[in-house]
Amino acid sequence: MPSFHPPLRTLMGPGPSDVHPRVLAAMAQPTIGHLDPAFVDLMDDIKALLRRTFRTDNDITFPISAPGSVGMEACFVNLVEPGDTVIVCRNGVFGGRMKENVERAGGTAVIVDDPWTRAVDPQRLEDALKAHPQARLVAFVMAETSTGALSDARTLVDIAHRHDALAIVDAVTALGGVELDVDGWGIDAIYSGSQKCLSCPPGLSPVSFSERALARVRARTTPVQSWFLDLNLVLGYWSGAGRRSYHHTAPVNALYGLHEALVMLHEEGLEAAWARHALHHRALRAGLPALGLELLGADGERLPQLNVVGIPSGVDDARVRQTLLATHGVEIGAGLGEFAGKAWRIGLMGQSASQRHVLTCLSALGSALAAQGREVDTGAALAAAGRVYAAA
Ligand code: PLP
Repeated sequence: MPSFHPPLRTLMGPGPSDVHPRVLAAMAQPTIGHLDPAFVDLMDDIKALLRRTFRTDNDITFPISAPGSVGMEACFVNLVEPGDTVIVCRNGVFGGRMKENVERAGGTAVIVDDPWTRAVDPQRLEDALKAHPQARLVAFVMAETSTGALSDARTLVDIAHRHDALAIVDAVTALGGVELDVDGWGIDAIYSGSQKCLSCPPGLSPVSFSERALARVRARTTPVQSWFLDLNLVLGYWSGAGRRSYHHTAPVNALYGLHEALVMLHEEGLEAAWARHALHHRALRAGLPALGLELLGADGERLPQLNVVGIPSGVDDARVRQTLLATHGVEIGAGLGEFAGKAWRIGLMGQSASQRHVLTCLSALGSALAAQGREVDTGAALAAAGRVYAAA
């Protein structure tokens, strides 16, 4: 069996995003023991960097050794007890997964549905909480990767608190790409993923829990059904003031990578990173009409880092994506759920939020569409994006 050599790609799908060589180089350093004092120091540094990234003083802020789905599961298995009512706001695929998590943890999910591409409607959440005053938790996806919708987390958390419910926020695609302020907005439990706007390889899920959320976990009358994700146990490993106890073997080299990616993010500055994502979104958006394409969604509710583009009728979705990949080395995402075959998802996340990525994507899309006989003006698309950059 020969060794594996991945093809060179430009990653512009819904994640993973492109990984900077500094992060890859960090991951290639020698593996050390996960209880080595040098590694324990690194764990502390990662916790501090994650606190800055989430904008929180929460002591319980650390990366779970697993992808974003496990961060989601950690929030639900710890905070939902059998019999609890949880309001789940669903405006795309990932809200649907939250419902699954609630039910598997023995809770009852009350679903607040919003149309795909739209943000979660605060009024509908308010109505659901009034109709279900026993609800102990509210859960929503701040950045719906399946629809490109950005919800107003600050307002939704505030509504939850006014009804004595805690708020679980999915920030898998949000963290590092748009404004997020865990303490300022009072978020109780939040999870993210390494492979989106943090631009690491997949496989780690940063999470953070407020004191209020921890009190809820400590007051449980039933054990957390997952041994691996029980916060009471995992905390002995990720905190414990010099007395770390073995829980599992952390993915040592993956954590070198996360550390370097966070160092890079804070060299740039969080606000500068949010502004960079917004700029490249505007440039991409400006270029699309000359290719006969437009973004779905409503003004003021679109994510800069995940752009959902309607596929014009008559265009062969799979053939366009195949041409992009095979001829240009560009990966974009297919539509998910309701949007399968109807939309593409173009990620401008982390290292993939750059002028090079936007211009490469517009020109590759232009040539893939022209190959299907579509009337496109790729030069005009590039010029429109260029004007956004010139004005920035
Ligand atoms: N939540 C959202 C909003 C996501 O976009 C994703 C992944 O795309 C997940 C959860 C699950 O993350 P992972 O694929 O890392 O398990």
